Amino acid sequence: MNAYDAARMADVLGQQGYAATDSVEDADVVVLNTCHIREKAAEKVYSELGRLRVLKGERRAEGRDTRIVVAGCVAQAEGAEILSRAPAVDVVVGPQGYHRLPELLEQSRAKRVVDTEFPVEDKFDHLPARRNKGVSAFLTVQEGCDKFCAFCVVPYTRGAEVSRPVAAVLAEARALAEGGVREVTLIGQNVNAYHGAGADGEPATLADLMGAVAAIPGIARIRYTTSHPNDMGEDLIRAHAEIPALMPYLHLPVQSGSDRVLAAMNRRHTGDTYRRLIDRIRAARPDIALSSDFIVGFPGETDAEFEETMRLVADIGFESAFSFKYSPRPGTPAAERPDAIPEAVKSERLAALQTLLDRQRHAYQNAAVGQATEILVEKAGRHPGQVAGKTPHMLAVQVDAPEASIGTLLPVRIVEAGANSLFGERLPEKAAA
Ligand code: SAH
Ligand code: SF4
Repeated sequence: MNAYDAARMADVLGQQGYAATDSVEDADVVVLNTCHIREKAAEKVYSELGRLRVLKGERRAEGRDTRIVVAGCVAQAEGAEILSRAPAVDVVVGPQGYHRLPELLEQSRAKRVVDTEFPVEDKFDHLPARRNKGVSAFLTVQEGCDKFCAFCVVPYTRGAEVSRPVAAVLAEARALAEGGVREVTLIGQNVNAYHGAGADGEPATLADLMGAVAAIPGIARIRYTTSHPNDMGEDLIRAHAEIPALMPYLHLPVQSGSDRVLAAMNRRHTGDTYRRLIDRIRAARPDIALSSDFIVGFPGETDAEFEETMRLVADIGFESAFSFKYSPRPGTPAAERPDAIPEAVKSERLAALQTLLDRQRHAYQNAAVGQATEILVEKAGRHPGQVAGKTPHMLAVQVDAPEASIGTLLPVRIVEAGANSLFGERLPEKAAA
């Protein structure tokens, strides 16, 4: 979602005549779009701001002005504290207020500004048309979270769950398709809790929304992220069998395999309900590739409980996954617990889990060698004459093909698994399975 928000901030500033630059030394405005999910991400912001302060001083010496903006969830959580810790910052703006960037930048000429209110108006009603669309684009359909997992800051930084109306999502999706986008990833902190108002004013489900997006000419592929196990409705599971454009890939965070830890995390599902849910999803779409998030070293987690996570991973089998050491976040219930796990134990558990997950990822990639599939070509490849794209199962593939194939679906056979991506060869049209 930060990638989406960053693109939209570029749209807002683009309307003011600003253009994006790859080099921070050239920038008249630097926006740090920040993440507060773990301590490490939040701390990076301050080290980056230290560097930007030096740059700002150098540019000032050359008679050039530099505005520094901190946006995103660190801005939301820390607000005015950022101004006192980082003297170079001109504007602090939360994730719900960035449509106001032009006026905030203007105000900051007189006085440094902090805008972390949840505004009454909806930012989406004030954002300009999207630029720089590419082949594959994110589209925010839902924001915020009402789940309050004991470790997580999202309900505090992104606020309560809000779904955009179906018509607003479809208008943005149509504009993306007209601009050449072929794949849309519907995003939200809790995307499968989507319940935006439909044409009749009644709430639509994510599956309803996908059906409508799939009908837009030009849209070949739909993905969605991130989902919560408790919101995998029957119609969403069915959509995986019934909507051909919906890709056979699901990111479904489980966090832990231990029921005691899951309860302490306030996840409101168990290892067993997750396993049975996966069985139902696989019954609807047998080839679905699975991905998940894991936290190791949640306060009080025993060795035996960690082993239950390892067992769940071994039983289910994931194509890919994100795994993290528990990081205490200010203001969350888990941060208050006295039974923190020592850093060394967390590191050991993370290494063991990542070894298992890596093995599964490699096994999945190796099993793909020899298979005929189809990639959506997204960009030029690493070497001249090559292009890069993804399979329906999200495997990154490099293949020899002209750049003119960017934006098309290309039948390929996977011929080799490298360290970070797969290599494919083109198949004649229609030969793909
Ligand atoms: N809404 C999604 C994910 C939100 S945050 C969900 O419910 O699953 C993305 C991931 O960051 C989480 O799935 C979790 O694995 C991780 N995460 C969140 N808070 C964390 C914390 N305090 N310490 C470590 N990892 C955390
Ligand atoms: Fe955080 Fe996801 Fe839990 Fe919401 S459901 S509190 S975003 S981990």
